[in-house]
Amino acid sequence: MLVVMQSGASKREIEEVELEIERMGYKPHSIYGVERTVIGAIGDERGKARLQVLETSPGVERVIPILKPYKLAGKELRKEKTCIRISDNVSFGGDRVHVIAGPCAVESEEQICAIAETVRDAGATVLRGGAYKPRTSPYSFQGLKDDGLRLLRIASDKTGLAIATEVMKESAVDLVAEYADIVQIGTRNMQNYDLLKAVGQINKPVLLKRGMSSTIREWLMSAEYIMSQGNMQVILCERGIRTFETQTRNTLDLSAVSVLKHETHLPVVVDPSHGTGHWQYVADMALAAVAAGADGIMIEVHNNPHEAWSDGSQSLIPERFKALMDELRKVAAAIGRTI
Ligand code: PEP
Ligand code: MN
Repeated sequence: MLVVMQSGASKREIEEVELEIERMGYKPHSIYGVERTVIGAIGDERGKARLQVLETSPGVERVIPILKPYKLAGKELRKEKTCIRISDNVSFGGDRVHVIAGPCAVESEEQICAIAETVRDAGATVLRGGAYKPRTSPYSFQGLKDDGLRLLRIASDKTGLAIATEVMKESAVDLVAEYADIVQIGTRNMQNYDLLKAVGQINKPVLLKRGMSSTIREWLMSAEYIMSQGNMQVILCERGIRTFETQTRNTLDLSAVSVLKHETHLPVVVDPSHGTGHWQYVADMALAAVAAGADGIMIEVHNNPHEAWSDGSQSLIPERFKALMDELRKVAAAIGRTI
């Protein structure tokens, strides 16, 4: 913590603040400048927020935290990149960029198994598919729920793909974690703190999607919620944010990939399907995401988008997905990575 004194602060006021810092169990370290004095409070990071009360002391202008509030998710305590293992051949955060692909929602055994084979053959390593769907309208398809989880497992057993699927409520966390290899927290639940704490208590990787109206800082604080419960296996997923733009469903914030590289050691995935909302824009944004340094890409693929029960307009048909995978390999190779 840094305590910035007002430019006219008296010697006595400075000494009082130094004493107060000592009384709170920290060591004051003062820098006496020509204009003003700045006092650093050195000591145990935990509980340092208490020092904020010094803002009410005479002569103090501001109290500024110098360490980031996301201590576990941030880079101050851990510099090296975290690699999160999903299965024997899938890890996020290493040299290989992994592609998570599949339909928006699980619709039937035939549908999920056919799409799983298609995306596996094209090079995806994780199958996505919602069993519980967060929908804007209560009248829209809400997912096959528990049956959807079972169908995902069948598709996984047939193809060898790992499974990523969303959990929407605390009471379903254990069940979803039993079936899924990656438990997804959707954009609408990024700040559902009880749900974050619940997935923080399981031993499964969590894909934390960015809240559609959340800042990167808020997103990292949500990762911190999960990690503070003991689960360090958090993968962040940029999926677009709300802006004034109407040509796309969301505005895919690719700059987040770059910001996160500086702010966190956690792997980052980009979802250009929800990020753009239109299949026509998905490939370009996926390529750009790999070029920007994403550790993974999440793409919605459907064998018959016209008939899809949700998000058909942003889903790639198998042929386009295969073509995209070929292009992604070239971009990955250009930056020294594989897919
Ligand atoms: C999804 O990936 O199925 C989904 C609902 O995404 P988001 O939470 O980003 O809207
Ligand atoms: Mn979707």
